[in-house]
Amino acid sequence: MSDPNELTVLNPATEETVATVPAASEEDVAAAVARAVRAQRTWAAVAPADRARLLRRFADVVDARTEELAQLEVREAGHTLGTARWEAGNARDLLLYAAGGAERLLGRQIPAPGGWDVTFHEPLGVVGVIAPWNFPMPIAAWGSFPALAAGNAVVLKPAEATPLTALRLAALALEAGLPEHLFQVLPGYGTTAGRALVDHPDVAKIVFTGSTRTGREVMERCARLVKPVTLELGGKSPNVVFADADLTAALDPFSFLDNSGQDCCARTRVLVQESVLDEARALLADALAAVVVGDPADEKTQMGPLISARQRERVRSYVPDDAPALRGGAPDGPGFWFPPTVLTGERHDSRAAREEIFGPVAVLLPFTDEQDAVRLANDTPYGLSGSIWTRDVGRALRVSQAVRAGNLSVNSHSSVRYWTPFGGFKQSGLGRELGPDALTAFTATKNVFISTEGPAQ
Ligand code: NDP
Repeated sequence: MSDPNELTVLNPATEETVATVPAASEEDVAAAVARAVRAQRTWAAVAPADRARLLRRFADVVDARTEELAQLEVREAGHTLGTARWEAGNARDLLLYAAGGAERLLGRQIPAPGGWDVTFHEPLGVVGVIAPWNFPMPIAAWGSFPALAAGNAVVLKPAEATPLTALRLAALALEAGLPEHLFQVLPGYGTTAGRALVDHPDVAKIVFTGSTRTGREVMERCARLVKPVTLELGGKSPNVVFADADLTAALDPFSFLDNSGQDCCARTRVLVQESVLDEARALLADALAAVVVGDPADEKTQMGPLISARQRERVRSYVPDDAPALRGGAPDGPGFWFPPTVLTGERHDSRAAREEIFGPVAVLLPFTDEQDAVRLANDTPYGLSGSIWTRDVGRALRVSQAVRAGNLSVNSHSSVRYWTPFGGFKQSGLGRELGPDALTAFTATKNVFISTEGPAQ
């Protein structure tokens, strides 16, 4: 039974307690929002170039602490050092990118008879960000930093399992000279602090990343207040591999094992043209056997543990012991370990082939031709990501147009970039984060018409 007043952060690789942190109550959320409302008024009046300068200083402070932040992420989330270092660098880089956006938040001048018509992108006010545990630092940053650059205040609720890097980022913001209460982090439970943030009338927008089930509830609650919402939800992304592809590159197991598969963009439906299915199976078997799973703090480790015992149980429920599968190894003993797995006996309509597992588990499924590949790729309620592998340029273009997903890569398993838009089709989400338009998602457009009519003659 968890303590409603406290969060216990466990190291997923050892099951030891890393820290205990007070859990925010509904009253704590209300008090934080009231402070944020006041901080935002001051911040919105700061000249864009000065806002940008402060955010760049924040980036410098994060840069000086990337190793410290990465080590903290390894301890609280079980991420490999390589992943954790990328995450801290991503937070820093996004701060620099968003800072430039503050200086380029351009309105338009629209021809109108009898006067001038101009538009402004005005900040919304206080933005609530609800982050998950799978990429605690980057996802907190994606919701928060463009919002700050656009002149908003942010109240961030991290996941109960991973509040520590977010708390550290808020402390570094103060160290860099950002105004007090502008960027507040409130660790707490989703059903208490999360709901209170969503329901608060002075929170002008919610950015939520997590499961489709919780995202749906957040959207319903926002609808009651007609509150805008950005949702980054689940995925069951296809990796479409045609027979003419570079099979070794296409079947890179880290396309679904990265972050132990706890990645909404993981390519967990490996769709392979049937003429090369046997070759694909052999390549995947060798690749899984070679994956180094173990202590995430060791530089040589390629895959760490799952976040929690609960998540491991969830993942295990999709992989019966007697399921036909290719399997790699995993440590015994303490820690929430699960071996890299490719299920080979699934149908495309089975539970493991349709639901987001969020662990190091993919399904291998054959397709016959291009039409069949597109049909299978799209036969999912999700539409977040996906890869297409073929040396035929025309086919690559046709398939990337036909697959309904927000983030596709051709002959690559490219991941998210802070300078390109990110978000899902269908039940994978609503709205876009990152990229050149990231700031405008945190603004309301105001149109002002100024009459040039003179006094009556
Ligand atoms: P949730 O979607 O429940 O959690 C995401 C965030 O929302 C957390 O901060 C959580 O807080 C908060 N939250 C939970 N309930 C509410 C609520 N009613 N109102 C407002 N905020 C709330 O994901 P889980 O951690 O339960 O993970 C379950 C599954 O979701 C995973 O197995 C995976 O399939 C999927 N998932 C997908 C992610 C993605 O990036 N697409 C990320 C994380 C999970 P708290 O931590 O206290 O629960």
